[in-house]
Amino acid sequence: MKYKRLVSLWLIIVNLLLIVSACSKEPEKTVKTEFLMDTLMELTAYGPNGEKAIDAAMKRIKEIDVLMSVSSETGDVYKINKAAGQDPVKVSDETMYVVQAAQHYSQLSEGAFDITIGPLVSLWGIGKKEEVPSQAAIDSTKALVDYRKLRIDASAGTIGLPERGMSVDLGAIAKGYAGDEAVRIFKEYGVKNGIISLGGNVVVVGTRPDGKPWRVGIQNPFKPTGNYAAVVKETDKTVVTSGTYERYFIKDGKRYHHILDPSTGYPADNGLASVSIIAGKSIDADALSTTVFLLGPEKGMEIVEDLPNIECIMITNDKRITVSSGLQDKINITDKDFVYEEGR
Ligand code: ADP
Ligand code: MG
Repeated sequence: MKYKRLVSLWLIIVNLLLIVSACSKEPEKTVKTEFLMDTLMELTAYGPNGEKAIDAAMKRIKEIDVLMSVSSETGDVYKINKAAGQDPVKVSDETMYVVQAAQHYSQLSEGAFDITIGPLVSLWGIGKKEEVPSQAAIDSTKALVDYRKLRIDASAGTIGLPERGMSVDLGAIAKGYAGDEAVRIFKEYGVKNGIISLGGNVVVVGTRPDGKPWRVGIQNPFKPTGNYAAVVKETDKTVVTSGTYERYFIKDGKRYHHILDPSTGYPADNGLASVSIIAGKSIDADALSTTVFLLGPEKGMEIVEDLPNIECIMITNDKRITVSSGLQDKINITDKDFVYEEGR
């Protein structure tokens, strides 16, 4: 009798354990990291096809890197730049798409964002060199930067730069496109939940496996990577941040970073430490995070308020956080060092 009772008690316990484990069981999770496009990429996918989806997405990111980096000799951007001052060159459809998007943001910002920033980027060499170029070098190099001179012939599929020494740089937008492509591939493989993290560019696919929105941290620009100033909850969105902390050097107490103002030839210096953009497409968020940074707090916020389905978080050097109107009830400031300022 006693023995029977023990057995049935045991069976009840086993059943309970099974129920609990079934309820808490997450779908299979795959995570892979690789260093590509000058940054650490971490792809997370849930579900049975996760690994295949991640491998295919990484492969696609590598292709984009080759096509769009300034240094890969078999790529389109390298070809365009090498032919500066000569005839336009034929490019792939995807390069045409990204160049047209970059040109759109160059026009929208009247050249604060400038797709032909290449000569200034290589003069400064932020991340490689640590010295301030001479004023003469800055002036002569700055004269080579002008998006209005870029020749785009969409029907012929060609792109050209009219003057020797001019060059195109897609560093502010190519990673955004890579994020969109990774999402497309995740969906092709039936991945419904995941995170694509390409350095400061995050894309969340669907919700978390438990159905709740993903929580995306906004990097504290004054602390090492992984320390957040704020958190936003998002589903099927991208959050892209441009900041002075990503690539820079400090000389005589002044910080020189990699977002260059084509009108001065120097790193943008307008009180902003970082700009995060939340959007549906990562190519837009990437281009806009750089554009809004360059436009500065006032003009930058104006342009965001004018654009549909685009939200923005700005962090200033004096540790104030301002957000666009659509985000005011959605953001959670997690670091007490920051002062939240009501937007407009
Ligand atoms: P990250 O690449 O670190 O994520 P961004 O998206 O803000 O940051 O892009 C910065 C890169 O954009 C620079 O490294 C450079 O290649 C390019 N860039 C710098 N200044 C400009 C500019 N005024 N217009 C367009 N691109 C720029
Ligand atoms: Mg950008």
